[in-house]
Amino acid sequence: MKAVRFHEHGGPEVLRFEDAPDPAPAPGRAIVRVRACALNHLDLWERRGLDRVKLPLPHISGSDVSGEVLDPGDSGLPAGQRVMLQPGLRCGKCAACAAGRDNQCVQYDVLGLRSDGGYAELIAVPLENLIPIPPSVDFITAAFPLTFLTAWHMLVTRAAVQPGEIVLVLAGGSGVGQAAIQLARHFGARVFATAAPAKADRTRALGAEHVFDHYAGDFARELRALTGGRGADIVIEHVGEATWDRSVRALASGGRLVICGATTGHAAAVDLRHLFARQLSLLGSYMGRFAELVAAAPLLFDGRVSPVIDEVFPLARAADAQRRLEAREQFGKIVLEM
Ligand SMILES: [Zn+2]
Repeated sequence: MKAVRFHEHGGPEVLRFEDAPDPAPAPGRAIVRVRACALNHLDLWERRGLDRVKLPLPHISGSDVSGEVLDPGDSGLPAGQRVMLQPGLRCGKCAACAAGRDNQCVQYDVLGLRSDGGYAELIAVPLENLIPIPPSVDFITAAFPLTFLTAWHMLVTRAAVQPGEIVLVLAGGSGVGQAAIQLARHFGARVFATAAPAKADRTRALGAEHVFDHYAGDFARELRALTGGRGADIVIEHVGEATWDRSVRALASGGRLVICGATTGHAAAVDLRHLFARQLSLLGSYMGRFAELVAAAPLLFDGRVSPVIDEVFPLARAADAQRRLEAREQFGKIVLEM
């Protein structure tokens, strides 16, 4: 098969479009012909090299995958079935898996992290990772499971969003940001967002009633002014160091900040007086659970939440696609199509 792999860590130039071995059939696994794979910041971290995770090299990235089942194994699905892939890989045996908290599995992995991912014509996955998609959903729309699941886990499971609450979404034009804006609106929240000025209009169009410039100004103070002094009941963070201080200060009394990434850096400080006196909750979030994606998928399938697609690249141009993500030029998802 053709795949995009890197044999050493580095810049986008280490990505090679080349021949790679087809994944071998194995019990309990299916082989899927990849039709679309969306990019995530995780792909960039993998390519640059991670502090705590040693990747097997050469490596194939890609966690947001849709395609057609080529070899269904014992799944009971017909060959040719259109699917999206659960992005999480779990052992199914540990206490966390037994309790349904599989994203805390002791052996938890993500497609394209320690295993090979979707920057390829073929991918092998456990049978339980196949989620059939209806004919009305195209492959590019369906290449959204990781982003969508991440936003769902943050808003619904970690922050327990309620109707009428005020939700502030950082970087509303990113993949997670656009999913979070749409989900928060779906659950009846009032949504505010931050974005670069060039992305403000499109972010508002997704459902944010006001969009702050996250490069200039103090969105914490501006949000408070627009909400009668209240601030945000929930802040959806994934920018990290560059916005952390303002994100914490934007919280209302009793507010919850949920963070799933730190694309600008991971050093942060908290004024502990604010933390206890205002009874804030700072919540970490990583991926989401199998059952959550199954529960949330109908929203994606019937279009109540739909990904905004920035640009579609052929697989051979994965390096250019990553350059675009790295430059933060995108609005919505960047997708590779095979
Ligand atoms: Zn487990």
